[in-house]
Amino acid sequence: MYRTHTCGELNIKNIGNAVTLSGWVQRIRDKGAMLWIDLRDRYGLTQLVFERENIDAELLEKVKSLGREFVIQVTGQVIERESKNPKMETGEIELKVQTLNILNKSLTPPFTIEDESDGGDEIRMKYRYLDLRRTPIKNNIELRHNMGVETRNYLNSHKFFEIETPFLIKSTPEGARDFVVPSRMNQGQFYALPQSPQTFKQLLMVAGYDRYFQIVRCFRDEDLRADRQPEFTQIDCEMAFVEQEDILNMFEGLTKHLFKNVKGIDIHEFPRMSYDFAMKNYGCDKPDLRFKMTFVELNDVVKGKEFKVFDDAELVVGICAKGCAEYTRKQLDELTDFVKRPQIGAMGLIYARYNSDGTLKSSVDKFYNEEELKKWAATFNAEPGDLILILAGKEEKTQKALSELRLEIGNRLGLRKSDVYYPLWVCDFPLLEWDEETQRYYAKHHPFTAPKPEDIHFLEKDPGKVRANAYDLVINGVEVGGGSIRIYDRDLQKQMFGILGFTDEEAQKQFGFLMNAFEYGAPPHGGIAFGFDRICSLFGGSESIRDFIAFPKNNSGRDVMIDSPSEISDLQFNELGIMLKP
Ligand code: ASP
Repeated sequence: MYRTHTCGELNIKNIGNAVTLSGWVQRIRDKGAMLWIDLRDRYGLTQLVFERENIDAELLEKVKSLGREFVIQVTGQVIERESKNPKMETGEIELKVQTLNILNKSLTPPFTIEDESDGGDEIRMKYRYLDLRRTPIKNNIELRHNMGVETRNYLNSHKFFEIETPFLIKSTPEGARDFVVPSRMNQGQFYALPQSPQTFKQLLMVAGYDRYFQIVRCFRDEDLRADRQPEFTQIDCEMAFVEQEDILNMFEGLTKHLFKNVKGIDIHEFPRMSYDFAMKNYGCDKPDLRFKMTFVELNDVVKGKEFKVFDDAELVVGICAKGCAEYTRKQLDELTDFVKRPQIGAMGLIYARYNSDGTLKSSVDKFYNEEELKKWAATFNAEPGDLILILAGKEEKTQKALSELRLEIGNRLGLRKSDVYYPLWVCDFPLLEWDEETQRYYAKHHPFTAPKPEDIHFLEKDPGKVRANAYDLVINGVEVGGGSIRIYDRDLQKQMFGILGFTDEEAQKQFGFLMNAFEYGAPPHGGIAFGFDRICSLFGGSESIRDFIAFPKNNSGRDVMIDSPSEISDLQFNELGIMLKP
């Protein structure tokens, strides 16, 4: 028997017990007369103690030959520690070792395998199996496991079937770029890896399996932005005979269940907000509601005073930073630099201080006297001590920039605590998005999303106006899930493809299987998918999804541990029969 206990479970109740443990040597402390070893396994650390005087020569030799990360098995007696460590589960005891068996040696690891490691990102990824030994990462992987179990528990208790859908599917022109896989048996032809099981889950609804889910890998060959993975996991769900309300309730339930059962947190409020409202008040479709600081539009208040920046702007809009009137010149310069960064792209930042003595002072005093500034303050409901921050320009760009500034101020004021959770639904998204470059509409969600019935009459003449039966789940400013009620009528689906620029033949070729299925009794249906990696990282209080994936890719989409992607042999390549098209 390799062990009678794990390294995380012995405590004061085990004093006097004879036990066997197996694990990795995390640390050796040699104080001459006494020598201690921290022995680690998945469950925790146990301190081993050796008294030089009381152990035989053979055991001492073995102990002296040990190094970090050796795998050992020890037997001994549990004794009470002299200096206890209340921070450790096993901190009241130690193991007085009688026998030691070296199960395997280890090279000196390239970084320290402790909570705080001295290893940089790249080296830890190269030796991910060592990084995974570290407790913080282990905790993340455990959290992910628990999230998966609780997701299954909840959905199973609501009669969802877990059904697998294929990974080798067909490339389609909508959405992101596909990863493709050459088919050796069908030379010159390719499979694509699914960006999501969207069409399959809809076909399952046609098949009558009216509640489906899958915790499933999805693949998107996108240029990698920070914290994107080319393969990622979704909790993918679909239901038949439902309206939007049914879906929101079911998955509000799942979210609450996860918070309760994984984190022990009760979530009560779950507000809903239209896309238009979110854009107007927060400048983005995934507002962080941990703090208010809503946008205040100023077009009517500030125009016509010969200040060109405001007069020429499509939108003048601001936020009120509570208690920030005393920001120094330097702090204000930092904020100005922040909004002028190329990623944000504002031309400048205008501010007004509402000093605690009641006076008002702005960065545009030349154009606006104190009387005018009082009007500003009233519009913002500002109070003495507050700082008003204003941006102006093209509507969309200005909203986006102010939204970033709002988050930055939220950070500076400590309003974005990682252990406070504020979920909401954002609903009524536009169905389509116009793209200037290609001069066509794109589906904002995907081409299978149903328009709101009351907006269908706009489809032909003014498709940009149509709102969708689509919704996103947002928690703390992070989009953790999104879905929609689907089109289930062949003609409407065909019309939708038409609006997206497909000819009838193209639509039939790409999506004929789905439209044909709609002719065999497709029920009304809808669904949602959660970003599983993201929701795990949110629950773990971290910004990075990579820490919650056992074997992630780096920012260039590489797995530096197995060195992939990599070249293949000529033989392997030639077998695929890939030829350049003229
Ligand atoms: N398949 C969609 C996505 O991956 C989610 C859904 O509509 O259910 O975003």
